[in-house]
Amino acid sequence: MRNVLVVISGPSGVGKGTLARMLLAEDDGLAGSVSCTTRAPRPGEANGREYFFISEHEFRDRIAANDFLEYDEHFGNFYGTPRSFVERQLKRKSVLLEIDVVGGLNAKRLMPACTVLIMVTPPSMQELERRLAGRGSEGEEALHERMRRVRYELDQAPLYDYVVVNDDLQRAKREIQDIIRKEKEKKI
Ligand code: 5GP
Repeated sequence: MRNVLVVISGPSGVGKGTLARMLLAEDDGLAGSVSCTTRAPRPGEANGREYFFISEHEFRDRIAANDFLEYDEHFGNFYGTPRSFVERQLKRKSVLLEIDVVGGLNAKRLMPACTVLIMVTPPSMQELERRLAGRGSEGEEALHERMRRVRYELDQAPLYDYVVVNDDLQRAKREIQDIIRKEKEKKI
């Protein structure tokens, strides 16, 4: 069996964070990666757990030092995957990244043989809009901006290896587990 780099992407509010946590909790052969970001921590987030929260200055220094496997900018903040952590883990385990589509496609370009791109989509756009509005943490304008980004992310689905509809968390989780198992068994 080979180790794979599993990328889970999908629009905000689709439940990919929950799915990633479930997958990691149930599979010892899968390691999560903690990204670096320049955005401020949200309430309840801890440095080194959800993200490593670093300054833009440090982020730029680390881009220059080639420390990121991939990075991208979102709503004015940078997000990046630490290269050395992923490369080290891949020698012994598969690695799960929960990153955006730009990052996912970059990872695939850099490591085409071992990267598996999985897009998680909502059962419908109406459902997603309802979930995002339900968060109630932002105004109309911000919600519109997020919905534009959602459409952009979903438009990239044909470039992904798999699309998994999150109509039910347990079912979607099992589908992703099957994909990972199948990919690990592939002989290439
Ligand atoms: P949030 O600020 O809501 O935690 O994340 C915003 C977006 O950044 C999400 O789509 C998330 O998947 C993406 N993201 C998180 N970490 C990374 C990363 O290391 N690289 C890239 N390209 N995107 C990331």
